[in-house]
Amino acid sequence: NSFNTLNLNQNLIEALKKQGIEEPTDIQMKAIPISLENKDIIGESQTGSGKTLAYLLPIFQKIHTDKREMQAIVLAPTHELAMQIDKQIKLLSENSRLGVTSATIIGEVNIKRQIEKLREKPHIIVGSSGRILELIKKKKISAHTIKTIVIDEGDKLLDQNNLNSVKEVIKTTMRDRQLMVFSATINEKTLNTAKALMKEPEVIKV
Ligand code: AMP
Repeated sequence: NSFNTLNLNQNLIEALKKQGIEEPTDIQMKAIPISLENKDIIGESQTGSGKTLAYLLPIFQKIHTDKREMQAIVLAPTHELAMQIDKQIKLLSENSRLGVTSATIIGEVNIKRQIEKLREKPHIIVGSSGRILELIKKKKISAHTIKTIVIDEGDKLLDQNNLNSVKEVIKTTMRDRQLMVFSATINEKTLNTAKALMKEPEVIKV
């Protein structure tokens, strides 16, 4: 197993090497090729299995860094997870020298400072569906340029408490955008909710 067989750019493979990552995990082996084809994905994979890079590497490969446009949204249910994901993005950006930019947008944090950050048009927005939706409505996040949406911890984000704002965020983006849902466990209800939001998704279990 090697990242070379997954059609990833050499600068990403070199960046991973700098981080001590040489071999893809099961979820990465299965999800990366499908994601690079822009297909919708429902992925069931334990925490610690490398699911973050499974969706981040294809996003990095597809981002047009020559454009100052918001191109991907990663939704996370907690502030802590959003910060961890953003940390992985910033590390990969630095090590690959690709110049991919990101911002965390979470609730209960000063919205004015977030609006300032958004003026720079970060390529990837990571955060909570409530605050992101609020900023889409205020036209501070340009939903029409978003090509990929990831729902991390889908079992939590697709439950009753979060589903409406998640759905609304998705609805503001273009119809041909890619949607990926990842979760440690996916029950029947979550699976059906996810499928209803997607076009012919590939279901991956590891
Ligand atoms: P995650 O499941 O995304 O929370 O990742 C858990 C940890 O595994 C993170 O610290 C990653 O940096 C690390 N990791 C991700 N992919 C790999 C890999 N292919 N080989 C070794 N470590 C990895």
